[in-house]
Amino acid sequence: MPKTVRLYIAGEWTEGSGDEVHELHSPVTGEHIADIPIAAPVDVDRAIELARKAQDDYRHWSAVERAELNHRIAAAIEPLIEEIARIQTLEQGKPFHQESLADIEEANTYFTEAAEDAKRLMGSVIPTTDRDVRMLTFRRPIGVWAAITPWNFPVTIPLEYVGPGLATGNAVIVKPPIHTSWALLKLAEAFDAAGVPKGLISVIPGGAEIGEQLVTHDGVDAIGFTGSSATGRRIISQMGIKRSIMEMSGNGPTIVTADADVRAAATAAVYGAYYNAGQVCCATERVIVVDAVHDEFVAHSIEAAKAVRLGDPFDEATNMGPLNNEPTAAKMDRHIADALDRGAELVLGGARAPGYPTDLYYQFTLLDHVPEESAVGQEETFGPVLPVISAADDEAAIGVANRSRLGLQAAVFTSSLDRAFWYTDRIRSGTVVINDSTDFWETFQPFGGAAGTDTGWGRGKVDEFTDLQTMVIRLR
Ligand code: NAD
Repeated sequence: MPKTVRLYIAGEWTEGSGDEVHELHSPVTGEHIADIPIAAPVDVDRAIELARKAQDDYRHWSAVERAELNHRIAAAIEPLIEEIARIQTLEQGKPFHQESLADIEEANTYFTEAAEDAKRLMGSVIPTTDRDVRMLTFRRPIGVWAAITPWNFPVTIPLEYVGPGLATGNAVIVKPPIHTSWALLKLAEAFDAAGVPKGLISVIPGGAEIGEQLVTHDGVDAIGFTGSSATGRRIISQMGIKRSIMEMSGNGPTIVTADADVRAAATAAVYGAYYNAGQVCCATERVIVVDAVHDEFVAHSIEAAKAVRLGDPFDEATNMGPLNNEPTAAKMDRHIADALDRGAELVLGGARAPGYPTDLYYQFTLLDHVPEESAVGQEETFGPVLPVISAADDEAAIGVANRSRLGLQAAVFTSSLDRAFWYTDRIRSGTVVINDSTDFWETFQPFGGAAGTDTGWGRGKVDEFTDLQTMVIRLR
């Protein structure tokens, strides 16, 4: 029997005022596992109105009181971890043992670390020219945030906004995609258990319409968006004068230089291509290998790919589950066909894997001699494919890297400190990882795109959830 899931609107569990439901089918089994109510516009209006009301009081809480609330939420998540992780695997497809559990075990840190950072968020006393004037600054909460989030990390990406948002005195309305909202709605039980004031957090799953309503609503003060560059561009054109954090698509290259540990590079690149079935903004979307180590790199990659275990994501041995949805699988089909048409060589995989309950299980795919201008070289594929692009030397490699407009997180493999800085100084990428996967991640690493690319502007510290207010005092 499909489970009827309820929405979390301003602290109430509700089926909303709409009369439609979304039938949730698992990418793992194909089964109809849940019905998610589709909220009506009045539900969104209500969430915003109650968020404003709750935040009006909450913004006066002391930093320590807010931190305590965050710590209570973190503690309340603990008993729910296994169930949230199971639901996440069922609705998203990521391996339960090898990814989903670890993902949710980390969920509490979005609250605890933000709580500690927010306690130490300080204003300053600014020297003035006038001896009878004092000037001070305060960090104020911005108000009501709408967090519009993607389906690849259905729980932790929303928490990147909820944790720091709450810790700094804001209200947050999360709008996850409806087909990956159940795990987050399960986690919302922790908000209740921790005594979050009603209205401060809402979780309203939906599609573009609900997203647009939030983006254009006067009652929303700030947008936190994580998703594709195309959607981000649309949101930017619609949101008007609102604060924002925009986290968008990536095409993170791994660059393998002549003095690299080539085996380590191949292992990291293969991992970066199959982790979460490649559905990661900082996945290893392409590898740029200098000619001197090309053959060695491909040989090691074939070896490293033996570690990929595609299968039932509830099996302990499985480290790659199905893709989440058909458009993503269809994009894999298209990008692989395009690369082959342009002369790339298929080394491994290349197609959907037969014999599974759904058509979303995709073979790990290795493509060699990929022309830079192919779709897989230029765009974000978001699937388990490792395209190898050749470059004559470092100059050629940096040229290929920078001609993509999706500079989010890159990796460079080199044993030379000079080379590490040479690339870091030149690459158009928000983050550069030296000698590890593009998929390197820590909860609170500053993360975001590079200026001049289509990757948006990410976040550095909890400050970004606050507004700087200046107070000037004239003394008698
Ligand atoms: P998407 O852009 O299709 O959707 C993202 C969110 O925006 C969803 O909640 C969607 O319902 C909503 N949305 C769609 N149209 C909207 C509109 N017109 N107005 C308001 N909201 C709207 O992205 P996706 O397919 O869900 O996610 C995959 C993308 O997310 C990839 O490009 C990936 O690189 C990116 N991503 C980026 C990061 C990062 O930190 N930079 C992290 C994860 C994923």
